[in-house]
Amino acid sequence: MNRWHDQMKWIDAQAPRLQQQLVQLCAINSGSWNVAGIERLQTALQPLLAPLGVPVERIALAPVQQLGKTGQIEARPLAPALRLRCRPEAPRQVLLVGHLDTVFPADHPFQSHRLLDANTLNAPGAADLKGGLLVMLTALQALEQSADKNNLGWEVILNPDEEIGSLGSAPLLAEAARRHHIGLCYEPSLPTGELVSTRKGTGTFSVHVRGKAAHAGREHHLGRNAIVAAAHVASTLDALNGQHGDMTVNVGFVDGGGSVNVVPEHCLLKVNVRVSNTEQQRAFELALQAACAAVDQRDGFKTTLLGSFHRPPKLMTPALESLLGLLRDCGNAINLDVRWQATGGCCDGNNLAAAGLANVDNLGVRGGNIHSSDEFALLDSLTERAKLSALLLLRLAAGDIDFTPFHSANKQSHSS
Ligand SMILES: [Zn+2]
Repeated sequence: MNRWHDQMKWIDAQAPRLQQQLVQLCAINSGSWNVAGIERLQTALQPLLAPLGVPVERIALAPVQQLGKTGQIEARPLAPALRLRCRPEAPRQVLLVGHLDTVFPADHPFQSHRLLDANTLNAPGAADLKGGLLVMLTALQALEQSADKNNLGWEVILNPDEEIGSLGSAPLLAEAARRHHIGLCYEPSLPTGELVSTRKGTGTFSVHVRGKAAHAGREHHLGRNAIVAAAHVASTLDALNGQHGDMTVNVGFVDGGGSVNVVPEHCLLKVNVRVSNTEQQRAFELALQAACAAVDQRDGFKTTLLGSFHRPPKLMTPALESLLGLLRDCGNAINLDVRWQATGGCCDGNNLAAAGLANVDNLGVRGGNIHSSDEFALLDSLTERAKLSALLLLRLAAGDIDFTPFHSANKQSHSS
């Protein structure tokens, strides 16, 4: 620890600046579909990225395919992702990932900040994940001040679509994961500071049912009620809860019908599923296909299905265990008791793990009530967490840890 005393001291001194910048970043709405807002956030980040001394690439992402209310496929555009790469030729490579988007759209009432007490900032994205962006960039700046930095290469990906499943940035994350040894993501830690070890996998599926419109009084018998058919699909899927271990199925959205004197022609359902293994995944897929087939077999009905398991479960591996152990050691050096636990939540850590990259994914600020108007970040954790990440990077660069667990067969040639 003494060895990096200067860097730790420098990080401590950044506290007032980081707190101020967090308020500024949270004031910019960056809901996942708010392309202009995310681009404004990217502009606001430029002065924070510039000290890292590498070019900032803007990478266009493919639009997201969605099922519309009448069963048509719609393509919704995303803001570009940002990427920075430094020393790609170095023997050890770390990938750092954070997202720019929040769950709060431009018209959401939660847009401004409030200090709940001297250490608690209530603001949209304060914990998820704008605080984490500052933690990540501060840790990298500390690394760049160190004489050992040349042994460690790094890449930063800031994606605009994590909160909607990273459907656009998934190929970018997977490709980057394959050429790195360790992944670090900056989702918030729990308010107590706990890290996350394993995560469930998730899938989101949309089912559109087309029936047939008819006058509710004169020709009710000619109509085919899409809402009622979709309700059968919904209840079939809901009945899977409790049947397959800890798999959970949430029918979370329904949109159909209009005037009550018309038999509804359209109904759109959206379902989110959380699984711990591929058996559960398969069980859900079979049940979904069977439920749709049962509707299709009825006269006058047609279903359209869109969706996938876009984030496979993140499981414990020897490399992940080593990485968590390493973080615990780094924590000890700065009097931080690092613990971890499993969660049902999913994030880009799932994507990186699926591509074979050992990663710890909630190295951001301590915070809570995320995805609600009560979201908060604990301000003292900005420097606390930056020191934890910086120490990990500095130790990796200095070569004073055993790197063997992080070399795996699927890494490309610069793995040494
Ligand atoms: Zn997040």
